[in-house]
Amino acid sequence: MITANEAIKRLKKGNQRFVSGVRSIDTIVKQIQRADFVEGQEPFAIVLGCSDSRVPAEIIFDQGLGDLFVIRVAGNIVAPSQVGSVEFAADRFGTPLVVVLGHSVCGAVMATIDELERPSEEKSSNVLSIVNRIRPTVEPLFETELRNDPDRLLESAIHANILASTNHLMHGSQMLEHLVQQGNLRIVGAEYSLETGVVTFFE
Ligand SMILES: [Zn+2]
Repeated sequence: MITANEAIKRLKKGNQRFVSGVRSIDTIVKQIQRADFVEGQEPFAIVLGCSDSRVPAEIIFDQGLGDLFVIRVAGNIVAPSQVGSVEFAADRFGTPLVVVLGHSVCGAVMATIDELERPSEEKSSNVLSIVNRIRPTVEPLFETELRNDPDRLLESAIHANILASTNHLMHGSQMLEHLVQQGNLRIVGAEYSLETGVVTFFE
């Protein structure tokens, strides 16, 4: 298995290809060789990303079958089943890297800001369970001057939400915390720009 730093490099190179509109032969060949993956998988990165249709991890990182273990949930939030999915992959496959992938103009974060500005009683409790995970991160921003600048408020909220999920993964699981302390796992945040297609890693 490659190291976490090598895994980040591979993702960055793949994202550069995506931005340039190029696909690697490797990615295409793996699709043809799908039968080879029946026996097992060795994903080199775990990606916890948003469900947004414009941010599919395999495409924006130009990776093929078997490369990424992807968990997608609106707002890239961390609830117990997300922690469990990351634990499963890190433990079972020895995957060295977890990327919490947020993105610009995230609808889940916008819905949270909306809820804080105009609380509604009509939201389904299931949608609220997502909003309520994001709310504690966004709420303090309303105490700052950002509340008068909607664009910057949204940008800051998206950034803070990615960091909160990263933090939650690092400290919300003894297994993951242990793997990180031993140097066998790295958890990093990253943000995808819908405007440019570029993924910026928080390093
Ligand atoms: Zn989103």
